[in-house]
Amino acid sequence: MTAVLVLNADLGPLHRVTLRHAVRMLLREVAVVHESEPDRLIGVYPMPKVVRLVSYVVTRWRFGNGPAWSRAGVHARDGRRCGYCGKDATTIDHILPRSRGGRNTWKNTVAACTVCNQRKGDRTPAEAGMVLRVQPSVPTWHALTQR
Ligand SMILES: [Zn+2]
Repeated sequence: MTAVLVLNADLGPLHRVTLRHAVRMLLREVAVVHESEPDRLIGVYPMPKVVRLVSYVVTRWRFGNGPAWSRAGVHARDGRRCGYCGKDATTIDHILPRSRGGRNTWKNTVAACTVCNQRKGDRTPAEAGMVLRVQPSVPTWHALTQR
C-alpha cells in the first residue's frame, strides 16, 4: 500500500494517508496533487506522492498531534514547578540527558529548579536517586492556554 504524504495549505507536512484516501481527497477537491510519480496516472489524476490541502486546517484540533515542544510549554505544563522537588522551576531537565541521546520531547523533559538539575547532572533520575513527582506527558492545547 502506497502512503501519500498530505501537506497543509501552507506546505507543512501533516500525515500520511493511503493512496485510496488521497484519491478521495482529490475527488472531493479538498486537496490537489503537489508531487506525483512521473508518467503514472490513477484515473484522471497523476499518481500522487504528495497532496496539498486546498484550505488550511488548524492541525492541533483536527489531528490531535498536540502542540510542538517548547521550553515555555514545558514550564506551563508543569506549572513552573520543579518536577523533582516542587520548588520554582527555572530550567528544563532532560530525563534521559541530552548527552546520552535524550531529545527535546514532552515526555523526556520536565521543569526543574537549578539545584535539582545540577544534582541530577548527566544521569537518569534512577541513577541519581531522584524521584519524579509527575509523569511527563504531551499536554493538550487547552492545558497550555489555561495557565
Ligand atoms: Zn527541584
